[in-house]
Amino acid sequence: MELLTCPKCQNDHIVKSGVINRKQRYLCKNCKYFFTVNKIGKKIDDYYVTKALQLYLEGLSYREIERIIGVSHVTVSNWVKTFNIKKPSHANYHPTYKILSHLELIEYLKNKDQLSGAGMIITELGDKFMLIKWERFKD
Ligand SMILES: [Zn+2]
Repeated sequence: MELLTCPKCQNDHIVKSGVINRKQRYLCKNCKYFFTVNKIGKKIDDYYVTKALQLYLEGLSYREIERIIGVSHVTVSNWVKTFNIKKPSHANYHPTYKILSHLELIEYLKNKDQLSGAGMIITELGDKFMLIKWERFKD
């Protein structure tokens, strides 16, 4: 499955088109734009796809995800479609999130008040950590 999208028109009708300087070259069938992808190990690629989908499920908007991960909101919405992700309604809670360094994260968690009455997940994000929190037990 290809998850590449054209950097110009965001279309995902991409075909391989030779290798240049040991980089795979691609052609966008939609706008005929050639581009190469910077040693995108499939690993890095999958990593950001997973993060983006996680955040989407947590109720973040495409634009918020774009700001956090640095992947365009169009690409994120393509991933959501590709994987056929259905978001549950978040009518009863409103997640907030913080991006913290390791030390900031420790400081944050030291304070018990931050933990009481709330649900949260911590997920790695590059060299930082993202804490998503919601007040779970409110009605
Ligand atoms: Zn294109």
